[in-house]
Amino acid sequence: AKADLAGAICYYEPRMDEAARARRALVQDIWSAVERKEFELVYQVQKSVRSGETTGFEALLRWNHPERGRISPLTFIPLAEECGAILRIGEWVLRSACAEAAAWDEPHRVAVNISPAQIAHADLVPLIQRVLEETGLQPSRLELEITESAIMSDRRQTLEFLHALAGIGVSVALDDFGTGYSSLDTLRSFPFSKIKLDRAFITEIETSDQAMAIIRAILALGRSLGIPVLAEGVETRSQLAILRTEDCDEVQGYLLGRPRKPIFAVAS
Ligand code: C2E
Ligand code: CA
Ligand code: CA
Ligand code: CA
Repeated sequence: AKADLAGAICYYEPRMDEAARARRALVQDIWSAVERKEFELVYQVQKSVRSGETTGFEALLRWNHPERGRISPLTFIPLAEECGAILRIGEWVLRSACAEAAAWDEPHRVAVNISPAQIAHADLVPLIQRVLEETGLQPSRLELEITESAIMSDRRQTLEFLHALAGIGVSVALDDFGTGYSSLDTLRSFPFSKIKLDRAFITEIETSDQAMAIIRAILALGRSLGIPVLAEGVETRSQLAILRTEDCDEVQGYLLGRPRKPIFAVAS
């Protein structure tokens, strides 16, 4: 079934160009990467703007390919989504992030990215419950990050999913807000614990009045709905200063810390 799925999206064509050939080879490698232990998680700190305290860590996936070296998730996540391997990889990410966080010396929250396909196809809530039991991680220490594309497909299913998670004490952040199909209705209709303002706006915070206007609007929206807003991709002190002036709740980005293995992680 694996071979069929992988083959179905990258079928052979005589005139297939080099890029398509490389893609196809990568898709075949994805299926075996979990067993070969080629994946790894790094963690990026999230901080409160007001207190400077750490509020959590986002788990980010890395693929150490034996021949190609480290491959960016921006390259392989879309491929894994197309060929179906994302379900298997996503389960590995969830289990590994919970197990690693449970072993940390400091009880910080860990945020895990969830692909739309995981919500649509897998029995995700029972899986999460099982993983929490297996790893002993407190449910309140787990936060899932989902994008609006996961919601667009099936609103009722999404609502059931979010309520089930709230029932077991797991929170959900709305990722990459402001891009794609962002709608105010989404925020009003679903119980999100956090809004993650997309990096694209922060990048332009000093150069674009439009970006600044959108940031202000989203911060105001978060305040009126009582949902904290986290700004992604903060790289400079001046960006942080503006976000502080605008009363943004949390920040994440290279200025605060690069994704890495946390120093308080217990060496296994
Ligand atoms: P994302 O969820 O928006 O994650 C944030 C990305 O921004 C990460 O890229 C992070 O390294 C990068 N970043 C953080 N701070 C800065 C900054 O100050 N400047 C710049 N230029 N970039 C910054 P990364 O790790 O390459 O991940 C890219 C995307 O891949 C993620 O975007 C997410 O959509 C996806 N991804 C990563 N790990 C997973 C995973 O475990 N599961 C799923 N489904 N997707 C994942
Ligand atoms: Ca994310
Ligand atoms: Ca994001
Ligand atoms: Ca993003």
